[in-house]
Amino acid sequence: MSILYDERIDGALPKVDKAALLAELREQLPDMQVLHAQEDLKPYECDGLSAYTTTPMLVVLPERIEHVERLLKLCYQRKVPVVARGAGTGLSGGALPVTQGVLLVMARFKQILEINPEGRYARVQPGVRNLAISQAAAPYGLYYAPDPSSQIACSIGGNVAENAGGVHCLKYGLTVHNLLKVDILTIEGERMTLGSDALDSPGFDLLALFTGSEGMLGIITEVTVKLLPKPQVAKVLLASFDSVEKAGRAVGEIIAAGIIPGGLEMMDNLAIRAAEDFIHAGYPVEAEAILLCELDGVEADVHDECERVGTVLDKAGATEVRMARDEVERVKFWAGRKNAFPAVGRISPDYYCMDGTIPRRELPGVLRGIRELSEAFGLRVANVFHAGDGNMHPLILFDANQPGELERAEALGGKILELCVKVGGSITGEHGVGREKINQMCVQFNSDELTLFHAVKAAFDPSGLLNPGKNIPTLHRCAEFGAVHVHHGQLPFPDLERF
Ligand SMILES: Cc1cc2nc3c(=O)[nH]c(=O)nc-3n(C[C@H](O)[C@H](O)[C@H](O)COP(=O)(O)OP(=O)(O)OC[C@H]3O[C@@H](n4cnc5c(N)ncnc54)[C@H](O)[C@@H]3O)c2cc1C
Repeated sequence: MSILYDERIDGALPKVDKAALLAELREQLPDMQVLHAQEDLKPYECDGLSAYTTTPMLVVLPERIEHVERLLKLCYQRKVPVVARGAGTGLSGGALPVTQGVLLVMARFKQILEINPEGRYARVQPGVRNLAISQAAAPYGLYYAPDPSSQIACSIGGNVAENAGGVHCLKYGLTVHNLLKVDILTIEGERMTLGSDALDSPGFDLLALFTGSEGMLGIITEVTVKLLPKPQVAKVLLASFDSVEKAGRAVGEIIAAGIIPGGLEMMDNLAIRAAEDFIHAGYPVEAEAILLCELDGVEADVHDECERVGTVLDKAGATEVRMARDEVERVKFWAGRKNAFPAVGRISPDYYCMDGTIPRRELPGVLRGIRELSEAFGLRVANVFHAGDGNMHPLILFDANQPGELERAEALGGKILELCVKVGGSITGEHGVGREKINQMCVQFNSDELTLFHAVKAAFDPSGLLNPGKNIPTLHRCAEFGAVHVHHGQLPFPDLERF
């Protein structure tokens, strides 16, 4: 049994009368698909973090906003928990179902409602795949910048809920920086629009607050994203290093030279070899680390920046620097990086992907720390990550069939995240907290801060029905975990103390 996953959550939820709920759903929403047989529920029992599984009570697959609206009203009246799911690629157990609740799958909302080249925005339904937005915008010379490596599969609704990042977020920002507005339904089934068509709106910035809220504040029903003109030129430099620390230092030196690359990614030897075996991207398999540095913009600037970055990389001790010869090779270089997770999946029965963020200057020391922890725990770690924004993704290799290895992998993951916090970083950069990192939230935040989070949650969802037991730990839980000094103050949402 996993040590971080807290089975108590399901035991603590009030029992729901499944037969009565199913009958009412069929009566009120006869044309909405509802899955209830064990064999139909099975595919929905986890997201991309497959170490955690729970069978949902019911899975609903609405196709119209009215379906979602009526479903939420019904669940609100009956006090039934609701967990939203997009494409289920999340890596922190955010869409992990609860046994006494409904899993609301938004994947059928796949329409691109509008591409507006003059206004440079796209209006889309939440189940639209990230990559599909850029594909639809391409005929207008536009694209949607945030590009998670899962972009071929993940949904924009899931991206908003996780504030997803990607290779190009160093220069172009995370999901939150690329949104104009989001339409949501509250748990009471009321429609709200957060943000506006203008660049700013008065009052609190609820759009920013909602982005990254992991399905705990409302259900996303429509997203308006900003589109950017495709850069005229993009070039990629591949730099090899004989140590990860040198590569880590080079990252800071590129930014210190006043250059913000379109993407600046790092892979260590284990990740390089796995990706090369899988994709044949042309990576140097003897290198201890590589950096992929993309420079984009107008021709003259890109030419100049490539030269400057080349000089910085040489000075930082790169053993080789080469530029992708043409567009085919550039795409190959990125394909190796974007397929690095599945590539690592080929060399180990299981892997556990961490997602800590640290200040860039700490990269060399933290990489060294990870290597020491890896040796101490006796588990291999492959590093492949968004180096430019200090967003690390150590992949811990283990075999769940070996007694104790999953627990060791989780314990090692926890130590790596604590290391990130110690150097001034954070326990997540883009994958969210979900169920996975709930204990590490106690390391990152003190009890006053957590109480404030609970107050925000209660303002949107006073009954605590949306995605219960995720993202924000109770003070009671933190006290048990022993990570922070906890005052047992009155929570604005006392029921949460159970979890
Ligand atoms: C191989 C691989 C590579 C990845 N690379 C990246 C990367 O580079 N960058 C990155 O940021 N992430 C990455 N991820 C993680 C994942 O793809 C992202 O977190 C993504 O945003 C999840 O989208 P999804 O549609 O799959 O959401 P899901 O996994 O279905 O759900 C994620 C969260 O969003 C909530 N949610 C989903 N839809 C809605 C909705 N309509 N309304 C309200 N809440 C909703 C869920 O409740 C859950 O909390 C990667 C995953 C994999 C498997």
